[in-house]
Amino acid sequence: MISFRSPLFRFLLLALTLVGLYGLIHVNYDAASDFISSNSKKLEPYRRQVSYEPGAPKPVNGCFAVLARNQDWRSLRESMKQMEDRFNHQFNYPYVFLNDEPFSEEFKNMTRSMTNADVHYGQIPKEHWSYPEWIDQDKAKEKRKEMVANKVMYGGSESYRHMCRFESGLFFKHELMQQFDYYWRLEPGIKYLCDITYDPFLYMKERKIRYGWTIGIYELMDTVPTLWESVKKFIAHNPDLIPAHNSLWWVSRDNGTSYNGCHFWSNFEIADLSFYRSEAYTKFFDFLDKEGGFFYERWGDAPVHSIAAALFLQKEEVHWFNDIGYLHPGWQHCPSGDAWAKNRCTCDPNDEEKTITAAGWGRCSREWELLPDT
Ligand code: GDP
Ligand code: MN
Repeated sequence: MISFRSPLFRFLLLALTLVGLYGLIHVNYDAASDFISSNSKKLEPYRRQVSYEPGAPKPVNGCFAVLARNQDWRSLRESMKQMEDRFNHQFNYPYVFLNDEPFSEEFKNMTRSMTNADVHYGQIPKEHWSYPEWIDQDKAKEKRKEMVANKVMYGGSESYRHMCRFESGLFFKHELMQQFDYYWRLEPGIKYLCDITYDPFLYMKERKIRYGWTIGIYELMDTVPTLWESVKKFIAHNPDLIPAHNSLWWVSRDNGTSYNGCHFWSNFEIADLSFYRSEAYTKFFDFLDKEGGFFYERWGDAPVHSIAAALFLQKEEVHWFNDIGYLHPGWQHCPSGDAWAKNRCTCDPNDEEKTITAAGWGRCSREWELLPDT
């Protein structure tokens, strides 16, 4: 008989315990790796977990473009914190900051210190932020007064109009932007609500997508009362610039008679800059600029970009980044489904509309899915 106290018994007990523990760990490890591999199969399209060193060549020549005033640095730090934590700490895409005035040392220090990526600071040339010679400034002033009386949002602001014109047709002409093929717009005071674990620039490049968006809303129509009349004139003069497989339906439900106000909310936008540098877009912007609506009305860059994307791009060249959670004061987009948990979203998918309730506003993102195939 072996005594419970004997060294042999103790040895056997220890050996058994070790064998048991090993088995337990091994089984669990196998179960875990099965779980991971079965899950990672599901994530196939987005599995590419790459990361790029600061300053190293990237597979896509992309940048963030940030238009800002010196006093915006504090809310820009919030935006950059979001962008870096949710995405760019892995990818290190550079930032281009543009301003109609020289950037202060404070602005540069306070933004540079938010990222390991390269940063570039540029001033906008005067001719890109002033009245073109064909604009009647007295008429523009009268129109602003009318819009203030009618309580149109930003109706009295001159600088807002210069901003919209610049963002519509001029930002990509800045010398600092010439080195880039793709851009991602970043504004002060926004939030990214989920991790972005893949490279949207690369996603677009690999699929030949030229315009990416995440929120679609209806425009305040009193900011663009005659925009569609001008668009119709442009189409009539340039029918050869409109491909057959366009997305006109997105912006006009009556085959081009009227504008429904739907637009991609361009404070978030990722674009292939060759779209903006194309002959079609250049002619379109120059035409609209001559029409005067950037100053006599208050045409926004969002409807201008969106109408151009709908007219000049094929449906497949426009992509809804439905999986990117994003908030700009007024509206947010919160993804649902698998992506929500996986990407550590912090928003409520049922609470889509963090809304400033302004007349005429509403969401039209989902209507993109109804777009007929052409
Ligand atoms: P909203 O999003 O339409 O309410 O307008 P914002 O105030 O956010 O302006 C849109 C973008 O243009 C932001 O990136 C601003 O920082 C920038 N912006 C607006 N006005 C000016 C301006 O007068 N000068 C400069 N440099 N940037 C401006
Ligand atoms: Mn904004």
